[in-house]
Amino acid sequence: MERITDVQSMQRWAEDSRVAGRRIAFVPTMGALHEGHLALVARAAELADRVVVSIFVNPLQFERRDDFDAYPSDLAADAALLERAGVAVLFVPDARSMYAPGFQTRVEVEQLTAPLCGARRPGHFRGVTTVVAKLFHIVRPHVAVFGEKDYQQLVIIRRMVEDLAFGIEIVGMPTVRERDGLALSSRNRRLDAGGRAAARCVPRALRAAVDAVATGERAAARILDAVRREIAAEPLARLEYAELRDPETLEEIVTLAGRARLAVAVWVGDVRLIDNCAIEAPPATARAENGVSRASAPGGRAAAAASGEDADTRMAGSVRGSGNGGGGLRTSMRSAAASDGKPHTDATTGGTSA
Ligand code: AMP
Repeated sequence: MERITDVQSMQRWAEDSRVAGRRIAFVPTMGALHEGHLALVARAAELADRVVVSIFVNPLQFERRDDFDAYPSDLAADAALLERAGVAVLFVPDARSMYAPGFQTRVEVEQLTAPLCGARRPGHFRGVTTVVAKLFHIVRPHVAVFGEKDYQQLVIIRRMVEDLAFGIEIVGMPTVRERDGLALSSRNRRLDAGGRAAARCVPRALRAAVDAVATGERAAARILDAVRREIAAEPLARLEYAELRDPETLEEIVTLAGRARLAVAVWVGDVRLIDNCAIEAPPATARAENGVSRASAPGGRAAAAASGEDADTRMAGSVRGSGNGGGGLRTSMRSAAASDGKPHTDATTGGTSA
């Protein structure tokens, strides 16, 4: 694996690869890598000849200095993981080479950045789109892989790439979870034992919403009440937001009729966790005699878009295949639920085309 730290060398490598007819897949990250990142890398390897992973903790997307300073980092361990995963290039630019004195250009996606995390973290997504646009120009990938864990970010990047004709295929991957359902996140490293136990309320809250839909609830307010109750029951947790949104436009949903995305942000101590899952009300025609459709019954294909199930299966395979101890990890709330004996529910298997 080559390690490249300056922008020009990375651009030269990309140009040479393209001239040689190689297909480049790109996975941008902020480091402190875990199996969620590695699943993206494994998928990238299936999609191209050469995989580039960037590690850059982007100051532009942190609206709070303390959050930026506290962001975990372990470059040596990250490099070892990526080497084993067969990555061609690890691109690690420093802040000065990305934002030289005088830098004043920003890329901004409008409506999609307004709700959810955009409403609570002013400037965050502008920082994300600016750095991703710049990284795209440096790495010049044919395809880039992003996680549904940061669902709003994925939707925004798709929009930017479409609007500005980047000509890059954007692939979304389902969230990789711990056995108890907690979504893997670099920020989980900052939880102490009590915080880690408390964080289980987040996947529990998503499950509660999926279960409410499975039993016929369609009013967003009451579905979200189920989320609030789960978080309120955990003394160490504080709900920042829980919202039900259209999976593509991110417009607010009042009454569920079809596909939606449930997104939450929860503080556990001073650690902010975000998570989301697909929620789907099956069409009325699919309803069974007892009033609950097979598609939404516990243990059935509850809340799962068919395309998402495909992605989920692929995903589980790639985690196992990564050889990095993925055995304890799960890519769906269904699997997580299965391990603790609760009814199966695919809450995180949204489509990858949002
Ligand atoms: P980050 O390093 O947090 O900026 O994340 C880099 C990429 O990894 C983003 O596309 C994230 O959505 C993705 N990612 C982070 N956590 C997970 C996870 N648990 N499962 C799948 N993808 C993830």
